[in-house]
This record gives sequence, structure tokens and C-alpha cells, in this order.
Amino acid sequence: MTADHNTNPDVDVVVIGAGFSGLYAVHRLHNVEGLNVLAFEASDTVGGTWNYNRYPGARCDTEGYYYCYSFDRELLQEWEWTGKYPEQAELLAYLEHVASRYDLRRHIRFNTRVAAARYDAPTSRWIITTDAGQTVTARYFVTGVGHLSIARYIPEIEGMADYAGEWQHSSRWPREGIDLTGKRVGVIGTGSSGVQMIPVLAKQAEHVTVFQRTPQYSIPARHETATPAFFAEVKRHYDEIWAACRQSAGGFPWQHNGISALEVSEAERLATYERLWQEGGIKFAFGSYKDLSINIAANQTVSDFIRAKISQVVDDPETLASLLPTDHPFMSRRTIVDTEYFETYNRDNVALVDLRKTPVVRMTKRGIETTAGEVGLDLIVFATGFDAVTGPFFNIDIEGRDGLKLTQAWAGGPQAYLGLQTVGFPNMFMITGPTSATGNLPLNAELHVDWIADCIAQLDEAGAESIEPSDQAQQEWMREVARMSERSMISRADSWFNGANIPGKAHGHLFYLGHFGRYRTTVTDTARDGYRGFVLSPRREQPTA
Ligand code: NAP
Repeated sequence: MTADHNTNPDVDVVVIGAGFSGLYAVHRLHNVEGLNVLAFEASDTVGGTWNYNRYPGARCDTEGYYYCYSFDRELLQEWEWTGKYPEQAELLAYLEHVASRYDLRRHIRFNTRVAAARYDAPTSRWIITTDAGQTVTARYFVTGVGHLSIARYIPEIEGMADYAGEWQHSSRWPREGIDLTGKRVGVIGTGSSGVQMIPVLAKQAEHVTVFQRTPQYSIPARHETATPAFFAEVKRHYDEIWAACRQSAGGFPWQHNGISALEVSEAERLATYERLWQEGGIKFAFGSYKDLSINIAANQTVSDFIRAKISQVVDDPETLASLLPTDHPFMSRRTIVDTEYFETYNRDNVALVDLRKTPVVRMTKRGIETTAGEVGLDLIVFATGFDAVTGPFFNIDIEGRDGLKLTQAWAGGPQAYLGLQTVGFPNMFMITGPTSATGNLPLNAELHVDWIADCIAQLDEAGAESIEPSDQAQQEWMREVARMSERSMISRADSWFNGANIPGKAHGHLFYLGHFGRYRTTVTDTARDGYRGFVLSPRREQPTA
């Protein structure tokens, strides 16, 4: 099907998703730019990842007062966070408030999944097809599909069909909750989701068995430290806080201390680690010495520190030996923040199964059988993660110029320029797409949406029909992304950050791991320099009827 040249597109912009990215895109593109915007959301409500991830203990592990929108000073002053790390329900309430405050829902078609999106070159329009078979044409196609949540990963385990009990994936916990009283629960996976949920499940269930493949480093959140006085201070200084976030290495209002961990005495280093450990949260990782994520000798000092902390907490020597991460350095995987995770293993109703010593053989009617025997379970929770970043794109049949499918273009791993666009897909914009910076995602999403909105306005002003990156700019960016990944600890472990968590998935560089502030400058400079690295096509004369 080809769109009709002589009719206007149905809308200016189609947006996918109503999470942090999609909501702000609808607000900026419609409320500010006056464009005709239609968003599609597979769920029945807004929230994205904060709508889907409802497992017990789900909370944000970045502090809420800067894991939020910065675009409206009034919103910042009126919203009251109840604590340092908002629980899922609080973040969802925040995003619902945003949707109401800016009247966004009327632009969103809920319960509708985009099945396909095809670029029609003769008319320079995107033809979007929903799972109900409806089509919508648009000049611009903006994806706010998120990195995780949608493409959940459940490993194939022999005998799964035989299991007679209940099972859930962490990201699809039922809204009505699950009564865990008297239940024997098994958790497979100890990433951020598993680590957050295990202490909470242990307090509710009769027994919890954790099936762990890789031991993890984790930092205490110390959620309790936020007070009303603290938030009053935050509100007084919000402008400075955002200015600091925008220029910092990770998009946070603090940074590393500018010195190497190897430049100071051991006593000084340990005092720094101890102070940050007591403060809690990811600041321990990113607000400490400058070279922990790029210098293995510096990193060794912090990895040792965390191992010592774990050793002080866990009572049983065999359990401790299994919990100590020794085969990969701290920060080689996404940093985990917890509340009483390691302490939980001292409870009588919690058992750890070390899958490296006793691997899973199969699932049985009653539970999970490992080489050490069968564990009877009433509920199995797969906290096994996601086909991250590219998975949500590949859920949609996206076709660009000349019949090029996104699955083909990214067969060897995602290719993109600044995480905003990819060659061969004109007028398709990605909000925090692959190869964009990571860290504080709402802040990065705002950067991208603002860039996209300005770009669309510029295209109209310049009389341009379409925009996409040049091959050369994309290749140069991919080299820079690879360079940053290879110098980072991330290159020293397999995880979802490099596609290694999904059997058969192409390994690739999913994020730009360099300095967020510099990335931000690069993104805004390309626009200021007339969209350097992008190719703009002039508007064609439309044939008359
Ligand atoms: P994840 O980090 O990918 O962890 C998945 C876990 O499942 C790992 O422990 C993995 O073991 C295990 N696993 C996978 N396949 C397995 C198998 N066949 N057998 C046994 N174990 C298996 O997933 P996640 O915990 O859902 O977290 C994903 C990301 O979501 C996080 O990194 C974070 O970015 C985000 N998240 C954020 C928050 C927040 O508070 N903001 C909370 C939760 C999640 P291996 O380690 O051996 O691979």
C-alpha cells in the first residue's frame, strides 16, 4: 500500500509509548509545538516501565527528586515525593498526574499495540499499522518504546509445561497482587528486579528459594534518609540541581570527586568508600573516584570493599561463598541498589541455590529440580530480565527506505547516530534509542524530545522533506560508542548492556558510556551546526490531482 500523495497525512506525528518518553513527547509536540500528535500505548494506562513493573519491592533506584521531569518549574514545586527512592506506585501516580495536568490522555490510543511501521518514500510518510489492523499516516514517527519492560525474557527450561504451580515474570506481576501467605516461592534471577523483590517476598511468603547464576555487587539504598527538610532544600535549589545534572558525567546532581582511587592512601580511600556506603545509593559508584569504571586496578579497591561488606553481613559461610562476586568487577554490570538484600539470607525461611554448583536440570510438576534435588514451589518468579533496547523495536515490523527492515539493519547489533536516528529510516526518531547516553533516563528523554521537536520545526522552516543520519556520521559515532564501551568495566562482563543476556542475540553496544554532559553538548551542537551529520532532503513538489 502506498499513501496517497494528494491527501494530507492523518497526523503530523505518531508516537509509540506513554512512559516517561512518550508522555513528554506528546506534551512538547502538541501542547508546545501545536502539532497534531497521536500516541499508541499497548497498556490501558500511562506509565510505561512504571506501569508494568509492579513486583513486590519495585522502586526506583535513582532518587525521585531528579528522576523526574525538569521541564516545568511549577510541576517541580507542586509534586511531593514521599521519600528518597519512590516505590513503583508513587512513580506511576506521578506519571498519571503529569498525563492529567497536561491533558495528554486524549492524544493517546490505549490498549493498542503498533504492529508495523513502514516508510513510504514517494510521499515521505510513515504508515503505522496497529494490532487491530488500523492504519494511520504521519510525517514523523517517534519511538518512546523504552529499553526494558516490553520484551520480557523467560529462559526455556526443560519441563516448563509440566509445572503445575503458578509462575510470573517480574515485569508482569498482577495488579491485584498475589497473596503469598503460606506459599513457597522460587525466584530465578538476581539482577535489580530480583534483588529488590527477594527481601520483600521473604517477609510475606512462607519460604523463598533464590536460584542464583551470577553473584552480584549491590549497594544499600538507605531509603530512610530523606526528610521533609531535605525536600524543602531541594525545591529551593532546583535550578542549580538541574544545571548540575545536565553537565555531570551521569546526569545526576553530583559527580565523581575528580581524583583517581590510586592517588590517595588506603586509609583515605576506605574512608571515602565508607562515607558513601553509609549515604547509600548509586552515588557510591558514580560519586566516588573518577576511575572506578575505567581502571581495573582502581576498581579492584572498590570491588574488595564491597566484598568485605557482604562478608560482614552474611552469617552462613557456604551461602556467603556463593554470594561473593569474584568473577567480574563492580560496575561491569548495571549497578544494583538494595534494601537488606544480603541480610535476607540470614533468615530461616530463605535458601540460596547456587546454580553454578548445582544447575537446573528441569522443571517438574511440583517445582524445580537441580542436580542437588527437587525444590517444591507454589510460585516461581522469573526475574530473568529483558531482551533490552532492541527487543522493543523488533516487536514491531519496522521498514524504512527501499524495503530495508530494521531487523536487517541491526542484524549485527544496533546502529544509530547519537541514539536519535538510524540510517535508512528517514523521519523516524528514537527517544533514547540505542547508542544514546544512559544514566538518568528521564533527563536524557527530555533532551531527545526537545531535540526532535526543534528538528521538526527546523525541517518545516527550511522546507525540508526528511532527515536521516549520513552513513559516515553514524559510522564515526559507532566507533566512538565502541571506544567508550571498550574502556569501560562494562566490557568485562556479559549482561543486558551488551546483549549477552539473551541466547543468540547479537552482541552490540547498546549505550554510549561516555560523559553525559559532553554527550548532551554533542547532541545540541549538531542541531546548532545545521544538523551536522544528518542529511536533509528538500521538499518535493506534490503532484496536483
Ligand atoms: P537482569 O539485570 O538482566 O537480571 C536477570 C537475572 O536473571 C540475572 O541474575 C541472570 O543471571 C538471571 N538469569 C537469566 N537467565 C537465567 C537462566 N536461564 N537461569 C538462571 N538465571 C538466569 O534483569 P532485571 O533484574 O529485571 O533488571 C534489568 C534492568 O532493569 C536493570 O539492570 C535496571 O536497569 C532495570 N531495573 C531498574 C530498577 C530500578 O529501580 N530503577 C529496578 C529493576 C530493574 P546472570 O546474571 O547469570 O545472567
